[in-house]
Amino acid sequence: MKISIKAPAKINLSLDVLQKREDGYHEVEMIMTTVDLADRIELTLLEENKIIIDVSEGFVPSDNRNLAFQAAQLLKDRFNVEKGVRIAIQKNIPVSAGLAGGSSDAAATLRGLNELWSLGLSLDELAILGAKIGSDVSFCVYGGTALATGRGEKIKHIAAPPPCWIILAKPPIGVSTAEIYRNLKLEDLSHPDIMKMISAIEGRDYEEICGQLGNVLETVTFKLYPEVQRIKDQMLRFGADGVLMSGSGPTVFGIVKHESRMLRIYNGLRGFCNDVYAVRLIGERSY
Ligand code: ATP
Repeated sequence: MKISIKAPAKINLSLDVLQKREDGYHEVEMIMTTVDLADRIELTLLEENKIIIDVSEGFVPSDNRNLAFQAAQLLKDRFNVEKGVRIAIQKNIPVSAGLAGGSSDAAATLRGLNELWSLGLSLDELAILGAKIGSDVSFCVYGGTALATGRGEKIKHIAAPPPCWIILAKPPIGVSTAEIYRNLKLEDLSHPDIMKMISAIEGRDYEEICGQLGNVLETVTFKLYPEVQRIKDQMLRFGADGVLMSGSGPTVFGIVKHESRMLRIYNGLRGFCNDVYAVRLIGERSY
């Protein structure tokens, strides 16, 4: 028995950090939405009690450091599953990019194994389990568009933004989220207005969504990696309606309404950057 599932990337339309908590995590407020750039996960039922990972990308571990492995192990331990699984991961989402590729693979594995191992869990139960693997996994279990609070694991679904193109450009560096948070100075932040962003999305006000984009981690990443700022500037110069860094970076995304403008920006950026994608915003929940 085999199941094939998509694990889409996310972007942050808004990312705010409120405070550092006693457990070492930061209290955040983020608006996340899914885009149509996805890894493909194929799960094959094994009668033997083991987890095997096959991954298409050399930089991604195929042992218990892989987040999809951890998702399978968690379900096995929690529900005493005696069967095994082969998890084949076709990576299309760039790694360490701020697009939650690993978290989405873990979330897709949770959804798929729920079916393959007939566990009968609800999405809410899978999202709670997912938070044990990583803060972004809960959101990725549902997809769509949501306000994420706490350390990112408390999810409140909101409407989808209006349809548009998303151009993603990633400079050839990987950014460690931990390093960015270590360099964040909470007293210096200029906070995005999350409530205004939610109203703009709920009101399907495209211009206001572009105007309310904000990510407090940008200044930290830009200082450490000036090439990320340069990509943002290029995208604005080529005419994107709004531009923001996703997560802790280094991927920068541009929002564009018209296809002709999208093509101009896409082609222009490819002269500077190898990793450029033009995709649709998904926004609606598919699970
Ligand atoms: P986020 O936006 O949630 O901070 P990210 O997009 O910056 O995530 P990932 O691509 O998820 O980062 O990878 C971060 C680290 O996780 C890498 O060091 C990678 O080796 C490891 N990793 C573990 N499992 C996976 C996986 N299935 N796919 C990609 N990376 C994985």
